[in-house]
Amino acid sequence: MAMTTSQTDTPASAVTLPSHHLLGIEGMDVLTMHRLLDRASYFADNLTNDVEQTLKGQTIVNLFFENSTRTRVSFEVAAKKLGASVLNISVAGSSVKKGETLVDTATTLNAMHPDILVVRHHASGAPQLLAQHIDAAIINAGDGRHEHPTQALLDALTIKRRFGKIEGLRIAICGDITNSRVARSNLYLLGGLGAEVRFVSPSTLLPPAIGDMGVAVYHDMAEGIKDCDIVMMLRLQTERMEGRETPSQHEYFNLFGLDSDKLEAAAPKAMIMHPGPMNRGVEIDSEIADDHERSLIHKQVEMGVAIRMACLEALAVTAAQKRSA
Ligand code: ASP
Repeated sequence: MAMTTSQTDTPASAVTLPSHHLLGIEGMDVLTMHRLLDRASYFADNLTNDVEQTLKGQTIVNLFFENSTRTRVSFEVAAKKLGASVLNISVAGSSVKKGETLVDTATTLNAMHPDILVVRHHASGAPQLLAQHIDAAIINAGDGRHEHPTQALLDALTIKRRFGKIEGLRIAICGDITNSRVARSNLYLLGGLGAEVRFVSPSTLLPPAIGDMGVAVYHDMAEGIKDCDIVMMLRLQTERMEGRETPSQHEYFNLFGLDSDKLEAAAPKAMIMHPGPMNRGVEIDSEIADDHERSLIHKQVEMGVAIRMACLEALAVTAAQKRSA
């Protein structure tokens, strides 16, 4: 299947957002979703070309309270491609370790007038809290089990460019749903864009309020991924677990790990996704993860830069409009 570019007839332009923060996908209107994807698709087509320096003169601070490789680097690359200056705050070497509160740290940084704060925090709702206390625009780069909006957007971009559409696709999100901010953001985004989203998980890895989420739930891989166009695997997020959720990782792999046998149940040309980092041999078999014909995992990382360019630019444009209003 060939990669397709933007689905719009007109060249995508910078997006204006309803708010000058990007805290989650929940509540985002469908038009904004499409516009961000179209703009990011333009950036994806030009990742090795010079693009307009729409963030020139802007300062972006990456404030990460949880470990990250691809998300932090991807925000940094995206910001630099658009001409911004980037500061990375390492929590290990910051006053956070001396007991400073989240809000104190952020208001201190705010006094240095950054334009955008990219925040990752282990507590759900931390970016929302900061948004109430500081002037800089905030992007949620993952908060606890809550949301990871740019991950969902990059997943949607990867899918849209591969399949030429999102509407009507059948997408199974499999594994540790309860601890996954990626599953939540993707349900809102891919569901909002018209895909049929399913969750496939043992009942011990589903949130208590799953019944209110309006998503079909399966407890068996073969049934859950049957005829799916995309099988998205999630990591067992042991750092957020209490320890009794799975009998053993080996047992988990036997029942819920994706290998070529289980994949047979999916649509013949089904593609595999994973937000990373992967636990090989736990939720996904290496042979599948590295299968260039079926795996979109590297493409997801590449699309991460394009999506973050579109989101950072959108926040800068929205803030500039707000100032001139
Ligand atoms: N990288 C993703 C996140 O930050 C998924 C994961 O950690 O498993 O949520």
